Amino acid sequence: MISIHIDPIKAFTDNYIWAIVNDDNKTVWMVDPGDAEPVIAYLQAKKLRLCGILITHHHHDHCGGVQVLRERYAIPVYGPKHSDILATDVVEERQQVFLPECHLFFEVFSLPGHTLEHVAYYCASDKILFCGDTLFSAGCGRVFEGTAEQMTASLMKLAALPDDTLVYCAHEYTLKNLQFAKTVEPNNSDIDLRLDCIKGLEGKPSVPTPLALEKKINPFLRVHVPAVIAAAENRAQKSLEDPVNVFSFIREWKNNFV
Ligand code: ZN
Ligand code: FE
Repeated sequence: MISIHIDPIKAFTDNYIWAIVNDDNKTVWMVDPGDAEPVIAYLQAKKLRLCGILITHHHHDHCGGVQVLRERYAIPVYGPKHSDILATDVVEERQQVFLPECHLFFEVFSLPGHTLEHVAYYCASDKILFCGDTLFSAGCGRVFEGTAEQMTASLMKLAALPDDTLVYCAHEYTLKNLQFAKTVEPNNSDIDLRLDCIKGLEGKPSVPTPLALEKKINPFLRVHVPAVIAAAENRAQKSLEDPVNVFSFIREWKNNFV
């Protein structure tokens, strides 16, 4: 039995670079290293050898450290097709990526919406999901490049994974997201419980969270739930008819939420 653990490395103001560590052979893979400097500091402090990188999408806060790390360590970089990512290996929907040093297989899911090429990496054996800026705890990424329809389908794809999947998202947005979730669903007691929990963390990461919890608190995974539909329609002052319209309206509401 190999001993794997996952560390968060803080970067910029609210990014998490995830480190998949094999404690037996002291190796590590990084997910979304937007900045090389905290990664190098972490490797030196923990005396770990970097063996490869997984990238979810082309935004600088996710792949900005690739060039420096690739040159310094001569490692494979898996990422979707986009010239800014500087991947050595381009990944596609349903492709398997094997991390030999950790003995883990990850499946690639194509998740257009936040960006068109955005992917997630899912490890079925250990129920680990690295989902970049598509799904956050109690929230989701902004729809920058795709359509509301694509983003809704991408979120539903993630929602179909097992309930005990651990969601490793790329930003610490949980508190703000929960404040918005509570505005949408003031009577959802799971949101209150989660808010109480977050307040006790004192700056420690609020993620990962199990998918089962996200389904109870995340309005963007709840566009089929009557209370969420009612809240959106009440604010829109019209019938929204389908989940894509509900998603679209709630996403816009969140964009303007202060
Ligand atoms: Zn992004
Ligand atoms: Fe980001």
